[in-house]
Amino acid sequence: MVDFGGRYRYSEGDKVQQLLSEQEGVKLSYVRIYAGSSGPLHQAVLAFTSPDRPFVTADPGYEAGERAAKFIGAKVIRVPLLKDRKYAHDVKGMAAASANAGLIYLCNPNNPTGTVTPQSEIEWLVANKPKGTIVMIDEAYTHISGEPFNSHLVAADKDVVILRTFSKIYGMAGLRAGAAIARPDLLEKIQSFSSTMMPITGMAAASASLQAKYVVPERRKAIGNVREDVFSFLGKHNFTFIPSVSNCFMIDVKQPGGEIIRAMQQEKVFIGRVWPSWPTHVRVTVGTQEEMDKFKTAFLKVMA
Ligand code: PLP
Repeated sequence: MVDFGGRYRYSEGDKVQQLLSEQEGVKLSYVRIYAGSSGPLHQAVLAFTSPDRPFVTADPGYEAGERAAKFIGAKVIRVPLLKDRKYAHDVKGMAAASANAGLIYLCNPNNPTGTVTPQSEIEWLVANKPKGTIVMIDEAYTHISGEPFNSHLVAADKDVVILRTFSKIYGMAGLRAGAAIARPDLLEKIQSFSSTMMPITGMAAASASLQAKYVVPERRKAIGNVREDVFSFLGKHNFTFIPSVSNCFMIDVKQPGGEIIRAMQQEKVFIGRVWPSWPTHVRVTVGTQEEMDKFKTAFLKVMA
């Protein structure tokens, strides 16, 4: 496969497109393949928001879409997660945020909290959003959580764009493969900025991944085991954290998070970042058991 890398090959994503369309129960023309999901994420924001069509997102949430919205001059409306509902998205608040919203972005489970929004609430949002608003559901971490996917909304021709990536559970962040699943008229708007040329190694690995049925359950279990082990450690030491079903979670360190991040770096453990609305929480990614054992040792030292 790598031997073909020196050439332009236009149909490299075809097999991945066919497999995804079969597995998701949508027509072939409803699936478009990309080199990762960042491309369609940014492009959808550029396509559907504008200076008079706001971008609605969760707070804290994944920031990429927000950056694209700012770039194009669209207003960004951040709707806080629901603390009393296990940090689910506030779908009612998001639907009501702007009668003229261009795009509502919902990541399930959410990055950075790893918390879930029930499918019934996602369906409520799609049914009750303002007319003409697109709902983009980012399913980057859905495989890890075991939560249901939402392709049925696309199959039913709703105003929904679903994002998928092979960067997370499939471990292909550097190989690059992803997809947008949506009605062809929506895909056409998203597509208008990008090339169809796909990385051949990424496409070969993506179709192999979709066919190897053991990969998702095996890795979900492996990540879950390490995550639950860290959670029992945090609980035992009375740290405050938000239970997650993903490969990342937030700890409330009860002091400026940036200072803990820097102190951890001194211990050669590099954790994630802080969100401005939650200044005392740090994001931690679930690594291997060995990495998390190092994390535990360093965290106890730093917090002492
Ligand atoms: N969506 C979410 C929620 C993410 O966390 C990321 C990466 O961190 C992406 C999309 C983009 O990933 P990629 O471009 O590797 O598919």
